[in-house]
Amino acid sequence: MPTIRRITDIERPLVEALEKRGRSVEKAMGAFLRVSVGEKIYVIDNKDHSGPVMLSNLRGWIDSFDRGDHLILLTMGFFHPRCYQYLIDEKILSRIALIGIGLRDFYDEEAKATAFGEVEGGVFDAVVSVLGDRGIDVDVVTCKYCGGRVVAYCSSCGALLCKSHFIQCPLCKATLCHTDVSDCYYKHEC
Ligand SMILES: [Zn+2]
Ligand SMILES: [Zn+2]
Ligand SMILES: [Zn+2]
Repeated sequence: MPTIRRITDIERPLVEALEKRGRSVEKAMGAFLRVSVGEKIYVIDNKDHSGPVMLSNLRGWIDSFDRGDHLILLTMGFFHPRCYQYLIDEKILSRIALIGIGLRDFYDEEAKATAFGEVEGGVFDAVVSVLGDRGIDVDVVTCKYCGGRVVAYCSSCGALLCKSHFIQCPLCKATLCHTDVSDCYYKHEC
């Protein structure tokens, strides 16, 4: 059973974990926490509702912050797969992390947390460790075929793909599953 009901439940332990790592943390206007890491600003924000975050919600959410800020966006629910594709399309995989805790409704006891995007660095690690202390393990979303780092997705089947498992059609420029692992390339039309 998850030991958090709201993401704000982890605010205090998260501040402590970040300060222990030597980070300066402030409670931000309109956001959960702001953390300075050298020149970079990491903004951690949350949505406590358990429904899916759809692409239109995510866009508005991202656009409510400064463009240069790194974002760690948490929801008690989950992110629609289009949200992952959006980070790839917009080339913001190295600036934004999405963490869905995976509760489907308020009474769901089984938290299956997944993370996607910028899943590295001290601030992300602190969030993962604080969730882990509460029995919530965070799985990183990886390439469908090898568990590698995601850089693309298949425009035919939607699979998330690493640099070795996608190819780009020379004609229409679509990214597709590599021919070694799927027939998406042969089946696509252009
Ligand atoms: Zn792969
Ligand atoms: Zn495919
Ligand atoms: Zn094509």
